[in-house]
Amino acid sequence: MIQSHIGINVGAARDPEANALPTIETPVLVVGGSLVGMSAAVFLSHHGVRPVVVEHHRGSAIHPRAALITQRSMEAFRTLGIEKIIRDESEKQFVQDGAVMAVETLAGKELAWFIANLNEGVRDVSPTVRLFITQKLLEPLLQKRAEELGVDLRFATEMISFEQDSTGVTAVVRHRDTSESYTIRARYLIAADGPRSSIREQLRIPIEGRGILSHSITIYFRAPLAPLLRGRNLSVILVSNPALRGFFRIERPFETGFLVVNTTGDPAHPNEDLWRGLTNDRCIEYLRAALGDDTIPLVVDDVMKWNARADVASRFREGRVFLAGDAAHVMPPYGGYGGNVGIQDAHGLARKLAYVLRGWAGEGLLSTYESERRPVASLTTEQAFTRYVTREARYLDRGNLEPQVEDLNIELGYRYHSSAVVPEAEATNNRTHENLRESTGHPGTRAPHLWLKPEVSTLDLFGRNFALLTGGEGKGWPEASQFAVERLGVPLEVHPIRHAGFCDRYGVSGTGAALVRPDGFVAWRARSGGESPAVSLFGALSAVLDRQPR
Ligand SMILES: Cc1cc2nc3c(=O)[nH]c(=O)nc-3n(C[C@H](O)[C@H](O)[C@H](O)COP(=O)(O)OP(=O)(O)OC[C@H]3O[C@@H](n4cnc5c(N)ncnc54)[C@H](O)[C@@H]3O)c2cc1C
Repeated sequence: MIQSHIGINVGAARDPEANALPTIETPVLVVGGSLVGMSAAVFLSHHGVRPVVVEHHRGSAIHPRAALITQRSMEAFRTLGIEKIIRDESEKQFVQDGAVMAVETLAGKELAWFIANLNEGVRDVSPTVRLFITQKLLEPLLQKRAEELGVDLRFATEMISFEQDSTGVTAVVRHRDTSESYTIRARYLIAADGPRSSIREQLRIPIEGRGILSHSITIYFRAPLAPLLRGRNLSVILVSNPALRGFFRIERPFETGFLVVNTTGDPAHPNEDLWRGLTNDRCIEYLRAALGDDTIPLVVDDVMKWNARADVASRFREGRVFLAGDAAHVMPPYGGYGGNVGIQDAHGLARKLAYVLRGWAGEGLLSTYESERRPVASLTTEQAFTRYVTREARYLDRGNLEPQVEDLNIELGYRYHSSAVVPEAEATNNRTHENLRESTGHPGTRAPHLWLKPEVSTLDLFGRNFALLTGGEGKGWPEASQFAVERLGVPLEVHPIRHAGFCDRYGVSGTGAALVRPDGFVAWRARSGGESPAVSLFGALSAVLDRQPR
């Protein structure tokens, strides 16, 4: 377990006022305790680093917001031991395997079916499933796990200012109710402070992209919706008619839900500012126009205002500060990607920080956070924009849309190119994603799933330590691993895989091996055993941990 005092230089803050305040110390300070900050905290403590989390709100999410959780995010949660509880809670909230479709109105004409069944054709690629669970239910599950793992969670606590120096970050925080102020001294800071990130602003990190697309609203409402659903199992219902464009999500038992409205009026020249002149009566008008029913009783519970945008921060790191989640990228909720990309930022970043803090990796590993995650964020943001334009906002098509990439390849087929991966000669292209069905264990791709026995996937071999998966005929790999472990002091597990499909799926021969990172990405592979597996494995592991002799 990492001790919270490792490498911390208390009192290094240059701000004299900050120096006068009481100080607590932590290896990592996470600012923002919503979906991404809470995920980062749990992943960090899973790797033996206990962070402090400060969150402005008094508790976790009060609005449902994100709900579609992809297989990749579920795979990450599976390593935390919370997959089952998430699946159970999801079943209480939503009928599983629903469709994503478009209607003129819920009561009226159907326009298009984008996905007929959420998990159709994707069940074989992962030990887990896509599902819907709102942030309101998911965040308390993450919070509970964080508390079990000893994370120091501080709600109703706002970070007021911060500064960094060569050994750490000093932040001034204040409790909202007591006004008590103190400083937190951390080796690193994760900015999970959302789309309006004040940390990103203070660091003067520009954002790039398509900009603000609309001042959108989400109307949370109650109504007896079952008759309008007519037995259809619908997860997301896009609405497009001359009055408005947006989407519904409806929860069990079909008496509550929300309607997002992005634009109103003429679809070719729409009103993009839904915030202006917004009243309860107007919300009821929007609901009636989207439901296609003037008689159904309606109650508006709440309205949330937010900007639909498609933007990515130009840098994900400044010194000891790392941007994650909406602080780093914001995308239209078409495809359900925003929160998922954030969860995966947190997943990758937490492991890298933990390895550096534990002394297992050189500081250079931290620069691979941006080189790996920023291209994924850019790809996904553009894909969300393409879906938004083609499904709902044709008027934004200026002829420069990225062609649509298959959902599965965005969710599971993205590739990393960084110094935390040892490239192969034939894989030197800069493809940011690939066809998951043709993916065969290239370094930089997610290690493929195979069922090793009932309920045990290859993916269950990853999560905390590096894993070396070897073909059935490999002889020298245990000794090679021992050689590397003794020299680098990093845990490494060796798993001989007897599954008949292993060599094909991982692109190695029976004497070969694949080195998989704790985040489930292939770091390196030896297609066959070769002359000196010890030297090649040691070289690969040293390289991806930035432990090269300099
Ligand atoms: C209608 C809608 C539907 C969506 N559906 C999906 C979906 O199905 N799937 C999906 O993946 N994504 C979806 N998204 C996107 C998803 O909601 C966001 O990507 C996600 O909430 C981002 O989480 P975050 O933790 O990065 O930021 P936020 O949720 O914005 O959290 C940031 C937190 O930081 C705190 N904070 C900020 N500044 C400070 C400070 N100085 N001190 C202390 N605390 C601070 C805030 O209080 C806040 O709690 C949807 C979004 C919308 C609007």
